[in-house]
Amino acid sequence: IFQLSLPLNFLGTIYREMRQNLLDMEVLYKLVEENTPAKDAEDAQPLTLNGGSIRFDNVAFAYHPDRPIFRNLSFTVPAGKKVAIVGPSGCGKSTVFRLLYRFYEPSSGRIFIDGQDVTRVQLESLRRNIGVVPQDTPLFHADIMHNVRYGRLDATDEEVVEAARKANVDKTIERLPAGYGTMVGERGLMISGGEKQRLAVARVMLKDPPILFFDEATSALDAHTESELMKNINTALLDKARTSIFIAHRLRTVVESDLIIVLREGEVVEQGTHDELMKLRGLYYSMWQQQASLEKIEEEGEEALEG
Ligand code: ATP
Repeated sequence: IFQLSLPLNFLGTIYREMRQNLLDMEVLYKLVEENTPAKDAEDAQPLTLNGGSIRFDNVAFAYHPDRPIFRNLSFTVPAGKKVAIVGPSGCGKSTVFRLLYRFYEPSSGRIFIDGQDVTRVQLESLRRNIGVVPQDTPLFHADIMHNVRYGRLDATDEEVVEAARKANVDKTIERLPAGYGTMVGERGLMISGGEKQRLAVARVMLKDPPILFFDEATSALDAHTESELMKNINTALLDKARTSIFIAHRLRTVVESDLIIVLREGEVVEQGTHDELMKLRGLYYSMWQQQASLEKIEEEGEEALEG
């Protein structure tokens, strides 16, 4: 999948390629695959899914040696559960996904899916089993049909339309000048952050992965669009047992989680359900207090404007 965490020079290459000869989509997909630095170990096996539990075991990682992000990160995401990862900005939430998906490798420690070390499984099978709805969905310079089909290249037009319907973005698409044939992405039609994210949900619906990662947008969505999107995700993607991890900025979206993992400075400081964490009166509790008072200020501001 096309990720923002890919090295910038790689994005630059793609960008130049697209400008030069308007790459055919299929070629672009190949480019994305081939430019991924992770390689299969010689004896790599396909990932065998058995519920989809995920375990980080004493993981250390740094983008730059002098600035460690994780020193000793350990946690478990139980199979088939809905788990949220929360914590202050920059604590490493998105990095958890990048390591699991093997955009980067830990400097020490291991990551397991159903007991299999992710560095020992075939990359293609690892990524086939994990779907992601990223914070900022990259769109290709292509029409909407192609952009959604990126979730599963052999999907039929009907399947794409069905996925769009389930992701609640079909009506929006039908209103566009050329419907599913509308060009988006670089030099294409501008669409809103919320619409982009719903296209990403449609993409993931086509992929239908047993493990789902949802990286919540920080500010692109207003509260109403956000709650609509969460509803869509819950009905469209969590209709069957699926291990799902929500990286959340807004705590409202995590209340129903089976487990909430609280990170601070790259370490797990608390974990439990919403009720358990509220009783602890620790970091999670104080993050709630903080968000509640911010929301109150916002509401009062709106009322003052209206009144
Ligand atoms: P947010 O809540 O703001 O989205 P986060 O908890 O998801 O943040 P990460 O995106 O995982 O945090 O980043 C953790 C730290 O690593 C941050 O300080 C960030 O600046 C740094 N970082 C992230 N990506 C890179 C990168 N590609 N190169 C260098 N540093 C990075």
